[in-house]
Amino acid sequence: MRALVFDGKLEYCADYPTPVPNAGEALIRVCYAGICATDLEITKGYMGFKGIPGHEFIGIVEKCADESLIGKRVVGEINLWCGTCEFCIGGNKTHCPNRTVLGIYKKDGVFADYVTLPVRNLHLLPDSISYLEAVFIEPLAAAFEILEQVELKDKKVCVIGDGRLGLLCAQVLALTGCRLTTIGRHPEKLSILKNRGLRTRDNADGLGREFDVAVDCTGSNDGLNEALRIVKPRGNIVLKTTVADRGAFDLNQIVIDEITITGSRCGPFGPAIKALAEKRVDVMPLVDKIFPVEEGLAAFEHAAKKGVLKTMLRF
Ligand SMILES: [Zn+2]
Ligand SMILES: [Zn+2]
Repeated sequence: MRALVFDGKLEYCADYPTPVPNAGEALIRVCYAGICATDLEITKGYMGFKGIPGHEFIGIVEKCADESLIGKRVVGEINLWCGTCEFCIGGNKTHCPNRTVLGIYKKDGVFADYVTLPVRNLHLLPDSISYLEAVFIEPLAAAFEILEQVELKDKKVCVIGDGRLGLLCAQVLALTGCRLTTIGRHPEKLSILKNRGLRTRDNADGLGREFDVAVDCTGSNDGLNEALRIVKPRGNIVLKTTVADRGAFDLNQIVIDEITITGSRCGPFGPAIKALAEKRVDVMPLVDKIFPVEEGLAAFEHAAKKGVLKTMLRF
């Protein structure tokens, strides 16, 4: 099968072996896949991953013990949990210490014609969600995770960063009716939010320490410092950024001002699918460019350029 493979260097391979599903798994033919910041970090050494990266996708089930799934359009949760440890039994499957993670940790991902995933990780898609929209379900679920973690009702909230994840988080947080501002540096990206009636700013100048919650979606080391400048004492900073190289931080302000820092990663697929199906969020303005998988290296180069939104691979 065709695949992008990372082994210290990302390469296109035309004849990579097709994966064989284990018991309880489905073989899925990938239709479209999205390149996200995590994939770019992986090619810089994040998680020490080797193999096929990629975790945002829509595919069609080709082989599966449950024949009712064959031919169905699916998306998949990316954490492969064991189901028997204390974390799994306690309902914290995404923190299972025995887990592998699709295209991120010890499990080949979706930048290939085929991928295997446990059937329990799969979600069927309603017809009202298009192929391209479906690619955003995984990152959209990550945005919904914030709603599981922090009470936002009536709060003054700031999303910092107008990149791919920032634009998704802003739309999702806005659904709560919180008083939301998004700070970004790209007028054309902020206009996606403005067009939906959301408040935006092109910098933090003139802002005091006035937000109950600040959400760092910058994808850079500066995001936390920026959040610390605008969050109220006893406020909450939600970190969505993972970078291969985390710098050092002065933690004193966090102690003095009793700031809560909330790490936030993968989230629930159900609400993400529902919000897309009900058209309560709009991801299509985020589609930047679609490359055939053979041009995957060019796609990665494109995705790494400043200001680019969602780059996709087509199979
Ligand atoms: Zn991702
Ligand atoms: Zn487990």
